[in-house]
Amino acid sequence: MTKQRRTSKTPNLTGKKRSGATNDTIYAHMFDAILEHRLAPGTKLSEEALGEIFGVSRTIIRRELSQLAHEGVVSIRPNRGAMVASPSAEEARQILYARRLVERAITELAVQQVTDEQLDELRALVAEEQNCFARGDRGAGIRLSGEFHLKLAEAANNAPFIGFQRSLVSQTSLIIAQYEKGTRFHCSYDEHNQLLDAISARDNDKAVSLMMHHMDHIDEKLNFGDDSVTNDLHAVFSHIEVARNKKTVTKQ
Ligand SMILES: [Zn+2]
Repeated sequence: MTKQRRTSKTPNLTGKKRSGATNDTIYAHMFDAILEHRLAPGTKLSEEALGEIFGVSRTIIRRELSQLAHEGVVSIRPNRGAMVASPSAEEARQILYARRLVERAITELAVQQVTDEQLDELRALVAEEQNCFARGDRGAGIRLSGEFHLKLAEAANNAPFIGFQRSLVSQTSLIIAQYEKGTRFHCSYDEHNQLLDAISARDNDKAVSLMMHHMDHIDEKLNFGDDSVTNDLHAVFSHIEVARNKKTVTKQ
């Protein structure tokens, strides 16, 4: 059976108000597909195809695409429609540089602000991340890796940084999908745990040093030239179409 997305388990880190389950689900599926490197940079996002896949109007799709464009992971061009953003090498360097600065600030703030409850949640998230990789569910593991960084931004307790981080984490996912070299890269959960140890000990210098080291690993894995993920919308979201078709059959 095709792997099901577990969006219901996904914390609401997308920054969207819960105006409607359907819209949130579409946004979450798109965000997850980008975060999990299943949707290739530059993929044309046809409103018609996505409307068919998700069973909603083009107006709703357009609104979701607009939200993703606002976060920098979709680009919308006049007369050419929407596509998954495809950062140039120079844009990628700028995004990674911004991510380093934001991660540094988030780490410093988290050392000061994180609560015991948030630390428990972060630990649980890393444990689940580790479980996903152990059982071979790489996509879910990568998504949880991204969520770790978003959750850390929440622990920093600074609203602008949460917004910056959401955009930077998803854009970094696109950059990794577009420019990674050799074996597929993902965050090290060991490094996430070490980082939590330092944050928990309120050791600012060590936490920042570990985070910068963690960011170095992203830079080391990039060569600004590889392209190996699919740009077929129906292939990326086949599990949704299968699920929808099943529902339709059941209803009949
Ligand atoms: Zn990480």
